[in-house]
Amino acid sequence: MPPVFRFAPSPNGLLHLGHAYSALLNFDRARETGGRLLLRIEDIDTTRCRPAYETAIYEDLAWLGIAWETPVRRQSEHLADYRAALDRLSALGLVYPAFESRAEIARLVAVREANGPWPRDPDGAPLYPGEAKLLPAPERDRLVASGRPYALRLDMIAACRHVTGLTWSELGEGPDGERGIVTARPEAWGDVILARKETPTSYHLSVVVDDALQGVSEIVRGQDLLYATAVHRLLQVLLGLPEPAYRHHPLIRDEAGRKLSKSSQSTGLRALRAAGITPAGVRQLVGLG
Ligand code: GLU
Repeated sequence: MPPVFRFAPSPNGLLHLGHAYSALLNFDRARETGGRLLLRIEDIDTTRCRPAYETAIYEDLAWLGIAWETPVRRQSEHLADYRAALDRLSALGLVYPAFESRAEIARLVAVREANGPWPRDPDGAPLYPGEAKLLPAPERDRLVASGRPYALRLDMIAACRHVTGLTWSELGEGPDGERGIVTARPEAWGDVILARKETPTSYHLSVVVDDALQGVSEIVRGQDLLYATAVHRLLQVLLGLPEPAYRHHPLIRDEAGRKLSKSSQSTGLRALRAAGITPAGVRQLVGLG
């Protein structure tokens, strides 16, 4: 079977050089290996995603000379798939609703931090400090029935009891620059959010469901997602999904060494194109010339 690659942007802004690098690496790997390249639009965050950005993604990738298979999978059209996975995790007793607002969580973290350091996840965000997991079932049901907003969280400690020796196969660079089998530490993320009351999914859940449904065999993506791979591997094992290989690539940075963002105009593909840069020039700028 030919290897399957995917580029999976979120249509919440215009693509920049970092996206070009990731997309071109996927495209080149697919060509070198006789593999397939899929494009997936990760548009579950309806507050930030816009159809115009999706159109711009297609235009900019085509301008770069990238070809992908159609139809494109758009996550917003597959919520039932994510809900089925969530139901499976719920049936294992690994999901609970947490009712705190962002402000309440910030207050709880401040209370915890008054007594010493409170752990943070690999992205630097404080771990969930709440105790919703301990709510007696009748109280939990009453709050859900009352219409209060909630987030569905993974009970990380309970989930980790289902797995031993969790690892992933890294073809790029692991946390210590290593290649090969990397130990996955999902517990570093605490009780991650898997869904919200109004959206039956989250990035972590939908990415593992889609990669499996689409038969993706090698995931080529930026190092900003290196540590999240531990959560993805955990969910794959819990859901009985196949294990892909991962190739995390370095991030393209600006002159000040900062990660590029969708709002940084000067490295946007459209701005570069307007300034007369060619697709070959973009390849050169990201070191693929
Ligand atoms: N949608 C994610 C992003 O735009 C990428 C997800 C992935 O490659 O796993 O950053």
